[in-house]
Amino acid sequence: MKGGSQEVRLKGLGVSPGVVRARVVVRDNSLMEPETFSIRQADVPGEHLRFENALAETRRQIISLQNQIRVAAGDDADIFDAHLLLLEDQSVLDQVFDRVAKERINLESALYQVFTVYMEGMRKVADPYLKERAVDLGDVMRRILRNLKPSTGESMADHPVKHPHILAATDLSPSEIASMDRSLVLACATEMGSPTSHTAIIARSLGIPAVVGLYEFDGHFHTGDEVLLDGYSGVVIAHPRPETIEHYAQIEAEKGAIRDQLNQLVGERAITLDQQVVVLSSNIEFSYEMERVRRVGSEGVGLYRTEFFYLDRTVLPEEQALLEDYVKVAKGASPHGVIIRTLDAGGDKLPTSIQHGTEHNPFLGWRGIRVCLEESDMFRTQLRAILRASAEGQVSIMFPLVSSLEEVLEAKSRLEEAKASLRAEGLPFNERIQVGVMIEVPSAVMIADVLAREVDFFSIGTNDLVQYTIAVDRVNERVANLYAPHHPAIVRMIKRVADAAAAQGIWAGVCGEMAGDVLSTPLLLGLGITELSVSPGQILPVKRAVRTLHRSECQQFAEEILQLTTVEAINARCRQLALSRYPELLL
Ligand code: PEP
Ligand code: MG
Repeated sequence: MKGGSQEVRLKGLGVSPGVVRARVVVRDNSLMEPETFSIRQADVPGEHLRFENALAETRRQIISLQNQIRVAAGDDADIFDAHLLLLEDQSVLDQVFDRVAKERINLESALYQVFTVYMEGMRKVADPYLKERAVDLGDVMRRILRNLKPSTGESMADHPVKHPHILAATDLSPSEIASMDRSLVLACATEMGSPTSHTAIIARSLGIPAVVGLYEFDGHFHTGDEVLLDGYSGVVIAHPRPETIEHYAQIEAEKGAIRDQLNQLVGERAITLDQQVVVLSSNIEFSYEMERVRRVGSEGVGLYRTEFFYLDRTVLPEEQALLEDYVKVAKGASPHGVIIRTLDAGGDKLPTSIQHGTEHNPFLGWRGIRVCLEESDMFRTQLRAILRASAEGQVSIMFPLVSSLEEVLEAKSRLEEAKASLRAEGLPFNERIQVGVMIEVPSAVMIADVLAREVDFFSIGTNDLVQYTIAVDRVNERVANLYAPHHPAIVRMIKRVADAAAAQGIWAGVCGEMAGDVLSTPLLLGLGITELSVSPGQILPVKRAVRTLHRSECQQFAEEILQLTTVEAINARCRQLALSRYPELLL
């Protein structure tokens, strides 16, 4: 069942740069592929008992689940009959135990190996009924594995991987990747995901090379295999040949030389050849990223995604805890500023401390400012913390996902209430704190002229704007090929927002991932964008790009692009210009 040692290449999407070669640990959503270890002959009877108990417990759980479902959904409960039948398939169960007894390996590993052979066989046949049984078999296997109580070894949950590895999983949530021990998880590969999912964004922020959208890696490599992951081009290679390893060593050397060149720009400004200054700041998700933000010479923080402070907490954070976190960022950003975005919960970021419930279309549901306005106590606490932090550094405030003037007016009125409460308590804050909104919904674009009268700045969130404009889910790898920041509609929208801002005398920036893509730099500058907020790892490449351009030629370039009608034509022109100015950044 283990794959041979022939090189196998899988292609996905590179979403966080870097090349890593290490042993892989394969995990599905609920559990790791068990490690194999030897047991003593004397342990065999104990393993048998453990197996019997786990099978009994599994049977009990399935019957109880079936009863619950029968009450709620009638015949749908019949699917569990197939699970129960599998638990009674003595030939399969005997094979598992034979392996334990004859090969003297741990039960988890024997079970996994036998079931996987059956599942792989079933998946290969054309009969849809049998394919379906493979899914059932997988479910049953996971349930038994979870029910195996510790004996000679520890339980799976108590058996975390203690060596540096590449983690391969069906999917990873933003909070999972955020809580990873980076000395152990060197890189990540997932079947699901796309470049603008928050999981990918965090991988980039934390500098963890990552490849997503790897269709069906299951079966191509196994825990313990040597794997080479290329986060630049999105390739994952199991059992790399010596020539492959050599080839990637060369790529790493070239990238290293470019990094050294870029490092010389740390103290320089992002200024065009005709002396137009671009504010180049960082997007962060955690206050501890400030050290890296300073190291790369970023001009402060253009987007602090505060929701990650709320994830994985069972109770909402208190004002004091938020204040301390925000002051840390504000002080770290000095002499530059920080734009703190109020909580953007929902979509693919669901704090456990907020009762969210299940939604059919979470990205079109209870998200962003909608949550803030409804959860007024939570919102007040955050607004007060942001305001109080403004007494200690250059802090601005920004509201996410606004889609109407009413929302902006309501959010501003809550801000005034929070100010009044602080005044009454004699607590200091910046009375003239700057207030901006994210422009990331088409309705906000269409009324940008109206919104511009109410705020001090706009920050265009292209990640969501692309999703909502082209109707393409930003976290769905099936439609990742349709996700196009260079869609003519997006280009026109950015122009519309920049014009509305200029007409009102406020500034417009971009903080979506498009801001960090050097292919888009000339276009964004030409459209009238004056601030770019990017992942810290992209500060130096974007700075380099800006420094090779004239603002005036960018304007002409944007005019030309606005006449183009397809994504392909726009992509091609952007690539052509970038190649003529900073080819090394496109390697
Ligand atoms: C965006 O939508 O472009 C954005 C910056 O916000 P987020 O990625 O956090 O949704
Ligand atoms: Mg957004």
